[in-house]
Amino acid sequence: MSALPRFSMSVDDGHPLDLRMADLLQSHGIKATFYLPLANQEGAPVLSPASMRQLAQTFEVGSHTRSHRFLNTLPGAEAWREIVDGKQQLQDQIGEEVEGFCYPGGRYQHIHKLQVRSAGFRYARTTQNLRIDMKFPVYEMPTTAQFYPHTRTVFFRNFISQRHWTKRRAALSVSMTADDWLIRLYALLDLSIARQGVFHLWCHSIDIEKLQLWNQLDTFLRRVADYIGTEQRVYNRDLIAVSAAVSTVGGSQQSAVKAINVNAFKAGELKREESDAN
Ligand SMILES: [Zn+2]
Repeated sequence: MSALPRFSMSVDDGHPLDLRMADLLQSHGIKATFYLPLANQEGAPVLSPASMRQLAQTFEVGSHTRSHRFLNTLPGAEAWREIVDGKQQLQDQIGEEVEGFCYPGGRYQHIHKLQVRSAGFRYARTTQNLRIDMKFPVYEMPTTAQFYPHTRTVFFRNFISQRHWTKRRAALSVSMTADDWLIRLYALLDLSIARQGVFHLWCHSIDIEKLQLWNQLDTFLRRVADYIGTEQRVYNRDLIAVSAAVSTVGGSQQSAVKAINVNAFKAGELKREESDAN
């Protein structure tokens, strides 16, 4: 497989503003995967069945459970129903098979990976960030960053709690150099292009609306389209084949997590780690 940078995008929660998001993405020729629940127990509205079908004609549509309940808060049988019914009902709405799943809130346990696989999904996406490499387990697809004004502290906390530190270290180092969240995203995009990796952006349409970030997202996607060719803009389901094609020699480095001194990070010795990673 040729070494070229790739760009993938996820839009979560199926808010009706996803239609505006779809228009924006289409204007830049950007592919995306929309993860749709059938209802949102948090009270947010979701797309109508007709709008879901409309989205599915142009984009990949994945499942986000039946009612966007965090799986780790549910008894096993209820989690199973959320996963299975979410798939079946979404397929009934859009009239085609749904291959991808996204864990609500990024919360899951090992049993949920097994349930998602048993339900017939081919892959599942998490909210792990700061990943630009292409090798991952199919039921734990990571991301690079959320289009959201997270502070550096949030990035750092996420880095510590979500492990896989060796694979995420370069992206963390870049993230720590920028005070401004948007400059940080551009720096991460540059890093993923320089390393010919994957930049996987994710967002919620309602966040973009509430924070009035449509113009900023438009500008960011224009940069993506300028630097990443049409063939390298892929749906999330395409990343499975990309990951499978990556040689495990040198690619499977999770056992080397001890190589990173997490205590040094906690102690604020970030400068030394940054220079190490450059
Ligand atoms: Zn969600």
